[in-house]
Amino acid sequence: MKLEENAALDAVGKVEQLNENQVKQVWSRCLAIIKDNINQQTFKTWFESTVPLKLEDNKLTIRVPSQFFYEWLEEHYYSLINRTLAEVIGENARLVYSVLVEDGPDELTRHAITIPSAKQVLGPPPTYHKDSLPPATSPTPAALAGRATGSFLNARYTFENFIKGDSNQLARAAAVAVANNPGGTSFNPLVIYGGVGLGKTHLIQAIGSHALNHQRADKVFYVSSEKFTIEFVDAIQSDRISEFSSFYRSINLLIVDDIQFFAGKEKTQEIFFHTFNTLHQFGKQIVLSCDRSPKELKGLDERLVSRFQWGLTADIQPPELETRIAILQKKAEDDGVELPQDVIEFIATHVTSNIRELEGCLIGLLAHASLKNEEITLDLARHVVKTVVGDIRAHVTIEDIQRTVSEYFGTPEDLIRAKTRKQEVVIARQIAMYIAKELTNSSLKTIGLHFGGRDHSTVIHAYQSVEDLMKTDERYSRTVQDIKKRLQLYH
Ligand code: ADP
Ligand code: MG
Repeated sequence: MKLEENAALDAVGKVEQLNENQVKQVWSRCLAIIKDNINQQTFKTWFESTVPLKLEDNKLTIRVPSQFFYEWLEEHYYSLINRTLAEVIGENARLVYSVLVEDGPDELTRHAITIPSAKQVLGPPPTYHKDSLPPATSPTPAALAGRATGSFLNARYTFENFIKGDSNQLARAAAVAVANNPGGTSFNPLVIYGGVGLGKTHLIQAIGSHALNHQRADKVFYVSSEKFTIEFVDAIQSDRISEFSSFYRSINLLIVDDIQFFAGKEKTQEIFFHTFNTLHQFGKQIVLSCDRSPKELKGLDERLVSRFQWGLTADIQPPELETRIAILQKKAEDDGVELPQDVIEFIATHVTSNIRELEGCLIGLLAHASLKNEEITLDLARHVVKTVVGDIRAHVTIEDIQRTVSEYFGTPEDLIRAKTRKQEVVIARQIAMYIAKELTNSSLKTIGLHFGGRDHSTVIHAYQSVEDLMKTDERYSRTVQDIKKRLQLYH
């Protein structure tokens, strides 16, 4: 601590009012403590622009640039500020904000109002007006007017019908937090990334709908990065670039989908960068999606990538089996159909990487069922899945079959491959060969090789024996079907 500061602090409490310099010293001492407790960028954004005005009766008045700053500081740094004041000034120290409020388009007409810091008792102050931000006064351009009323959200995408799972847990939780308090969490921006068809659009739109429906944000706007780019180019060509950017800057919750399309588009990125900065500075919420981690995105300005680190980047992974089953069940339920459990499991085990494909299967099933009046059976499901994800045979390997058969009979796998002629091993081995022929594309020769180098005639013989037995022995037939089903369900 410097000497002058000491002197100033000693003076606190002894004299009622300090001179301007002393007040500055008190506040800079506070700022030094605050700075130690938050990250540099946050400090720069929220504290550097504060100006100490006076210190009277233990009340320190600081000026903040806007209503928004006041709210932000109160919401996020109330206890830090209070602790700091107590440390520097004394236990009963209090902070008073002097807020510049914009009356009109002209900077000069701003006036200051003072608001005591008291988060718990104070609701939004009466003078609060949300549009005290730069674009508020600019007329909405004709071309953009239509969307001032619409947010371009699809009502289908809600949190209620977004199934939770390990694969989307973080992304979903962050999305819910942001939707409840846009601009008010540390998840700004919120960047959701993940592969195709995993629910990015669904989730980021759900944020917008929730925020709108629960009056957490009034101006919500969803746009794809392609549309943003097209409109930007359009605005340049028709010389309306300032209208374009003021439209975007008037949004409270901006959702930009698929920002990977910004890659390599320097000018678009530049305007987006500025829009981003303005919105972020005023605590407006930004939500973005990308098909991979922004860090891995080539052709994206470093500055933008580093901005994204101010908030939270959360991924969505391909759904695990339980989630896939839950999604199918929910969607079937929403469509008012009851799917047999084995059908659901079959689809969920074969369509693994993409939720859009899961939906595709369901739609296919429903189409068959309603248009052709077919019953929804495992066979129909198999047919539909084949058309959606290609040949499912390729999914089961001979090793899978050997393992499953060995588990089923409790026969060690290596015995199934060995030359043993023990009766129970022979039964298991023949069934494994039969299923290998049924479910894989392998030739008889390949199958033989996998079973201890037997030749193709042995495989044919096994196949025919199993087929014959299945016709005559119902229990045996059920056993084979059971094993086949297991394999189809879990591979
Ligand atoms: P992306 O934008 O990642 O390509 P989408 O958001 O378009 O994926 O999702 C594809 C489809 O899958 C949409 O119809 C969406 O409703 C659905 N979907 C994705 N994830 C879920 C989930 N967790 N719960 C329910 N439906 C989901
Ligand atoms: Mg999408």
